[in-house]
Amino acid sequence: MKVTVDRAACYGSAECAFRAPAVFAFEDGYGVVLPGKEDAAEEPGVREAAERCPSQAIVLGE
Ligand code: SF4
Repeated sequence: MKVTVDRAACYGSAECAFRAPAVFAFEDGYGVVLPGKEDAAEEPGVREAAERCPSQAIVLGE
């Protein structure tokens, strides 16, 4: 399952990088999905990060 960050929605709390550092990083004030992790929605912490993102900027999908 794919994971993406909607940069327009992200307001840079960095919580995703804290909760799932194997998948997310915090760069230039935004949460980003690390290269090669675009299909890593099943990895530990990713779903929790999406649910707890304060701006609902993390999108999980097919
Ligand atoms: S948790 Fe959400 S708002 Fe915070 S950096 Fe990550 S994507 Fe952006």
